Amino acid sequence: MDNDCLFCRIVAGEIPATVVHETDTTLAFRDIDPKAPVHVLVIPKAHHQDVTAVANADPKAAADVLAAAAAVAEAEGLLADGFRLIFNSGANGGQEVFHVHAHVLGGRPLGPMVS
Ligand code: IMP
Repeated sequence: MDNDCLFCRIVAGEIPATVVHETDTTLAFRDIDPKAPVHVLVIPKAHHQDVTAVANADPKAAADVLAAAAAVAEAEGLLADGFRLIFNSGANGGQEVFHVHAHVLGGRPLGPMVS
């Protein structure tokens, strides 16, 4: 755990979150500022900075995040109409929290990818 990391502190229960799915290695909770009717963040419980870091250091953890994201999409009723799965990475990717997280977005037409 990184004591300075917001999402590590959510994993530790130090900061409240609306958890919708949990496994031994992952946690999924609602985004505090949702951009769609469904906006859930899926993280590995272990701290990795971004998707490249987790894919290189622990491919199973990366796969666990994808499996959890798929389970969230199904549980949130997104499979029929589709959804978007995003990993923002680094400055140009618009990443603001440097604990890797997948955004699961759905519940309305999201249109083409934004700039
Ligand atoms: P990023 O820009 O991909 O790093 O996304 C960070 C996301 O974390 C944003 O969508 C924020 O709204 C979200 N966020 C920031 N703080 C919290 C929190 O305490 N709980 C849940 N979501 C948060």
